[in-house]
Parts: sequence; C-alpha cells; structure tokens
Amino acid sequence: MNLISSCDYLDEGEDVKNLLMYIQAFGCQMSVRDSESLRALAEDYGFTETNCLDDADLILLTTCCVRESAERKILGRIGELKALKQNNPDLLIVVCGCMVQQPEAVITYRKKAPHVDLWTGTFDYDLFADLLERAMRGEKVVQVSPECRLRTEFAPNAQNGKLKASVSVMYGCDNYCAYCIVPYVRGRERSRDPEDVLAQVEALAAGGCRDLTLLGQNVNSYGIKDGFHVDFADLLEQVDAVAGLERIWFVTSHPKDLSDKLIDVMARCPHVCEHLHLPLQAGSDRVLRAMNRGYTTAEYEERVRALRRVVPGVTVSSDIIVGFPGETEDDFQRTLDVVERVGYTQAFTFMFSKRSGTRGAELPDQIPLDVKKERLARLMELQNAKSLAWRQSFVGRDVEVLVEGTSKNNPGRLMGRTRGNDIVVFPVPALPVPVGELVQVHVEKARSWTLIGRLCD
Ligand code: SAH
Ligand code: SF4
Repeated sequence: MNLISSCDYLDEGEDVKNLLMYIQAFGCQMSVRDSESLRALAEDYGFTETNCLDDADLILLTTCCVRESAERKILGRIGELKALKQNNPDLLIVVCGCMVQQPEAVITYRKKAPHVDLWTGTFDYDLFADLLERAMRGEKVVQVSPECRLRTEFAPNAQNGKLKASVSVMYGCDNYCAYCIVPYVRGRERSRDPEDVLAQVEALAAGGCRDLTLLGQNVNSYGIKDGFHVDFADLLEQVDAVAGLERIWFVTSHPKDLSDKLIDVMARCPHVCEHLHLPLQAGSDRVLRAMNRGYTTAEYEERVRALRRVVPGVTVSSDIIVGFPGETEDDFQRTLDVVERVGYTQAFTFMFSKRSGTRGAELPDQIPLDVKKERLARLMELQNAKSLAWRQSFVGRDVEVLVEGTSKNNPGRLMGRTRGNDIVVFPVPALPVPVGELVQVHVEKARSWTLIGRLCD
C-alpha cells in the first residue's frame, strides 16, 4: 500500500483527504449491526461510505461462518479483491467478524489471501480503531484473541437519523445447539444493562427512528444469567414506552424460553408488532434432542397456540434445517408435518452444514448432499405454497404499511411492511409519500414473499 498517502492523512494538520470506504456485511443482523459500528470508527479516520467498489480506498467486510456456503461466498469475494489490490496498491482491505474468529482459520486464510491488510475477529472489535490505524501505516495486522472481553457496545451509535435501527440487548450464546458455531465465534452470553439499552433506544427515537429491532441470539434469556432485576419482557415494555417509536420487533426467540409474560407484553404493548420469529429447526423430537434444542414439537406447538390465543393475528416465521446427522425420511416427514400444521408466513430453510468444532460435525450418519438437496426442495415447495396462500388471503383487502423507501427491484415502486412483517410494494403515487409514513394500501396481487397493491384514496 502507499504508505505516504496513509501517513499523510494520519499526520495532524495535513489536509484531510477524501477517503472512500466500501462496506459489505455478510450474515445475520448482528453482523450488519457490527458493520455499522465499524463504519463509525472508520469515519473518525476520514473515510466516507461509497457504493462503488472500484472507487474505494478501504474495503471492509464483516463475515459470517454459520454455514459453509456463507464462508465459501465470502472467500470468493475476498479472492475477487486481489485484482483490485493489484491495480491499486494503496487500497486497504479489512476482513473481520465471525469467519475470522474461528480457531486457526486465519492461518489458512492469510495464505490464500495475502492481499488482505487487516484480519480481526469479533472478540477484538474494541481494538478496531488502533488496528485500522496500524494497517493504514502499512502494517499487515492479524488480531484474533481467544477470549472475548467485550460487554458493552464498542462504538458510538452510528444509526442516528435512520428510520429503521437495531439495538443489541445481549451478545453471544450459551445454548450450544449441536449444529451451531455461534457460541464459539460470538462468545458466552452476556446482557447489556437495561439503562444502556434504553438510553440508546431513546437517542435513536429522538433522532428519527420509528422502526426498531432488538437483537440477541436468544433474547428470551436476556438478563437471567447476569441476575438483572429486568427480564426481556420488562425491557420490551420499557422500550415500548419510548416516545416516537412506531414499530418494535425482536429476534431471536428460543422456543424453550418463550414465556407467557413475554406473550402478554406483546399483546399489551401497542408498538410491539404482531410477529414472532420462532425457529423450529426440526420437526422430529429425536432430531431436536440430538440438536440439543431443549423442547419437543408438542411443546413448540403449544407455545405457538399460546401466542395465537393471546396476540390476535400474530404471524410466525421460522428457521428450519434439513439433513441433520441421522435424520431419516420419517424424521423429515415430521418436519413437513409441523410446517403444515403451524402455518409459517415465512421460513428460512437450510441444509445442515458441518461446522468444525461443533458436536454436529462429529456425529455419525451424516446425510449425503443429494438427500439434503432433495429434502430442502420439498420443504421449500411446501413453505412457498403456504406463504403464497397466506399472502393471497390479503388480495382485495386494505393493509397498514410503514413506508420504508423505494423498492430495490423497481424504482417506480415504494416498499414497506405490515405489522405482521409482510413486505408490500405499490407504485409511487403522484403526491409523494414520505419515508416513515403510515399508509393504507389496497392489495391487488400476491406473490410468495410480497404483496402488491396501490395506495388507498
Ligand atoms: N440465534 C438464532 C440464530 C442462529 S444462526 C437462533 O437460535 O435461532 C441462524 C440460523 O442458521 C439458525 O436458526 C439455523 O437454522 C441456521 N444454522 C445454524 N447453524 C447451521 C448449520 N451448521 N447448518 C445449517 N444451518 C445452520
Ligand atoms: Fe446457535 Fe442455538 Fe445459540 Fe441460536 S440458540 S445462536 S442456533 S447455539
């Protein structure tokens, strides 16, 4: 890299150069959240965001390793950056996050991608500003601590002024589901002080946020391990009282910890949306036991019934894995049966992916890829049909939509969501509708994942 230009910038009193950064986050909402905080730290070094990869002076990737396919995609992306670095040796490439946090992983990656300037895992984000500065001075930096020190947010809030924002209420996970690498790359579960969460939510709402998501790997266990006097249901109720918020969501709820108290709070709080992401993972009790999920399908379905009894019109979405080691055709059929009975409005479906260091990777009876593919196709076919039937039930009806902006696929359309988390698109009306407005849309057509309509008169 060009040491002179970076050091020039770092010298106080020099003219600040207009440095551009391109940021890409892979994986879950926590990874997106991290990338926003890292962006704020990089902004202190004079970088501003660009959407154009070719213009960037800094490329910052926050990575995911929850499945092999995610990791492969990211490694492909890092490989593509080699040519950019060759054409522009000044370019700074930073790769951080879950993928880097895996033990020993960086040893392999560094050999494959010597063009990366800074590698750091999730446990070292508090050092990010220093690490970036060292990389800007021309050092090749690798920082992957085996233990996590972080208990609080590692950067100032970077989402002010946005319509939609997310706030982490807790980090890490102690559940050790047999397939999952998250506890290893995000550390032990720890909850943020409720006062800190509330202060952040208040600041966001004051800055214009109307649509807020509370984040945690298992929000239902918020505060318990840390002995707080406030549990997640209490926290949600307090967040609901913050002035200015229109809609509140939370992910992820673990079925084993979904309390009646939380269900009551969902029903009682006017801004908490009628939607719950409640991952099933598998529909066979034998497989759920092997996954270490801590509930049976009967218990899961009882929780959904309790939720529907108390929160009228609530929608439920799910994550489902096919081909966990030892899953038989009969086990898989049970997954289809639960999907049929519960009626999810949306489900994220995955083939089991071996993650090194997890129990699932060591289990016998790994399922061949062709069987996993075939099961995934059948599951998706069923879920797509269920999703379509659900959305078709809206055709001819009016729905309330919070306008989020222009549709990604069609600039002539606006998009927003219902309180049940259904995406709605409609033509941009003659009189423009501001982002953040609540509008009524008359639904004319339905696709599996989207409602299409027009603004009501
Ligand atoms: N904490 C959340 C999300 C964890 S990761 C939860 O408990 O639901 C998001 C989803 O990825 C999981 O719900 C699971 O369905 C899927 N997943 C995790 N590890 C996986 C693996 N090894 N193979 C396939 N899917 C996996
Ligand atoms: Fe992974 Fe299970 Fe923790 Fe979710 S609850 S992050 S699936 S270990």
